[in-house]
Amino acid sequence: MSTVASPTKLEVVKYGHPVLRQKGVRIEKITPEIEQFAAAMFEAMYAHHGIGLAAQQVGRAWQLTVLDVRGVTDRPSTLQVDGKETDPAAIMPLVLINPEVKPIGETAVAAEGCLSFPELYGDVERPAQARIRATDLKGQTIEFSCGGLLARAIQHENDHLNGILFIDRMTRASKTELKPQLEELQAATKAALNTKK
Ligand code: ZN
Repeated sequence: MSTVASPTKLEVVKYGHPVLRQKGVRIEKITPEIEQFAAAMFEAMYAHHGIGLAAQQVGRAWQLTVLDVRGVTDRPSTLQVDGKETDPAAIMPLVLINPEVKPIGETAVAAEGCLSFPELYGDVERPAQARIRATDLKGQTIEFSCGGLLARAIQHENDHLNGILFIDRMTRASKTELKPQLEELQAATKAALNTKK
């Protein structure tokens, strides 16, 4: 049920768009505009069957990302809140504002995709666990530790908030394999931006 007017549809920008390389500015106050923007981000993320979306990917360089890993059943996530093992579903859907992400322990290599790189998947090495501190949509501080897919997804989105893309962290083998498609995507995005001008 919702009494809020349906938010305007957001378009996901692709690799080659300059906003993807911008560091997000901190959000100091949760305004109705921010709340509506987060709702529109979820709508765009679910429409594209994504598990995470950063503000940069819909054209705003802000420190705001939305996630929901509940749809993925073959790649487990772990969550610890106040030191207790918790069902990750308990914090989904998840909005992270001005997140601070501290990696914990060993790294792991796994495949990643990104809504700004449609149909392209590559192996990325990242810390397997992370400690997160962020502000939620109510303006409250949330803190937790996570592992598995959730830790990977949050680190991927947090990178976006700092203008870093998964291709920057991709294994050399994956990046070499994807090089022709990456160049093609980048060129197509730039060409589309130029015709819009
Ligand atoms: Zn991404």
